[in-house]
Amino acid sequence: MKIVRLQTFHAAPRWLFLKIETDAGIVGWGEPVVEGRARTVEAAVHELGDYLVGRDPGRINDLWQTLYRGGFYRGGPVLMSAIAGIDQALWDIKGKALGVPVHELLGGRVRERMKTYRWVGGDRPADIVAQMRAHRADGYDTFKFNGTEELRIIDSPRAIDAAVAKVAAIREAMGDGIDFGIDFHGRVSVPMARVLLRELEPLRPLFVEEPVLPEQWEAYRTLADATAIPLAAGERMYSRFDFKPVLAAGGLAMLQPDLSHAGGITECLRIAAMAEAHDVALAPHCPLGPVALAACLQVDFVAWNAVLQEQSIGIHYNDGADLLDYVVNKADFACDAEGCIAALPGPGLGVEIDEARLVEASRHPPDWRNPLWRHADGSVAEW
Ligand SMILES: [Mg+2]
Repeated sequence: MKIVRLQTFHAAPRWLFLKIETDAGIVGWGEPVVEGRARTVEAAVHELGDYLVGRDPGRINDLWQTLYRGGFYRGGPVLMSAIAGIDQALWDIKGKALGVPVHELLGGRVRERMKTYRWVGGDRPADIVAQMRAHRADGYDTFKFNGTEELRIIDSPRAIDAAVAKVAAIREAMGDGIDFGIDFHGRVSVPMARVLLRELEPLRPLFVEEPVLPEQWEAYRTLADATAIPLAAGERMYSRFDFKPVLAAGGLAMLQPDLSHAGGITECLRIAAMAEAHDVALAPHCPLGPVALAACLQVDFVAWNAVLQEQSIGIHYNDGADLLDYVVNKADFACDAEGCIAALPGPGLGVEIDEARLVEASRHPPDWRNPLWRHADGSVAEW
């Protein structure tokens, strides 16, 4: 079998799909995208296509190393997201060619179902509580929401009080029957994170995500030494080489590599194993589309330390399309009464793309950009 063509499709809300075709008629799907930089990653995918066309898609390990090492310059969100989407599509092709799900190729399941959580948006606690109650009725008991709006490097205790009051109101309204993670989204500086983590600790969040920017990873250890809240990060780390010093330094309780940013299934399996060796859990980042989620689930079902799966159904970014809009086998993604999802039963990644609908959507795709925030003094704020 040989790779004959790579095609890409932009589609709402902010996704990029990759279709790799083979001369055997088998096609594989991937999602190579950086949110807000889809066209940059698309260019990288097609440039890397020179290394793929004419090659055997079954040689995933060799192709991965070719794409990674063959270009001399490597790493970073653009190149590693391009490799990630290609890697997903290659695994999809291999599974379809052999007639088995990817998790079977990787040695079989270590669990029967995978816990997922729901994003809840909004800045008012009442909005978040209303959403949690609605999702609770569907079985979800684990949630995530943003912890703060923009925060200055040194901000007023009033800003801290507002953030803590929001979480306290949510905990009081929902009680101890639910769990929630709080995403600081890299908006909080090291000095403010020290204060905020201390104040949030009595409210018992399941974890705090990106307590500080990944560029400040040296602080994870210091912050972890000062709080009992498990700290999580990883959506902006792109390879095992990015995770290596972070794990060695300690401080993170949970890694959140993104299957569409960190080199795909091939690389995230390695990252999962590195995390397990440090007694660190895995919770793949996935605010993206169905192929990315399917790739995450393939890893979740073979990685023993995988504990939580993010998924984008109903997420506030999904403007114009939702998680399963381009999927034929929607029922395979259904969650049970406790918010868990079973291993996808289909061959390859286990997601059947509704290509006609995707092609139609790709005719007028939005060019999504994240908001640009500014502080009251006019300087740029982290979003
Ligand atoms: Mg995050």
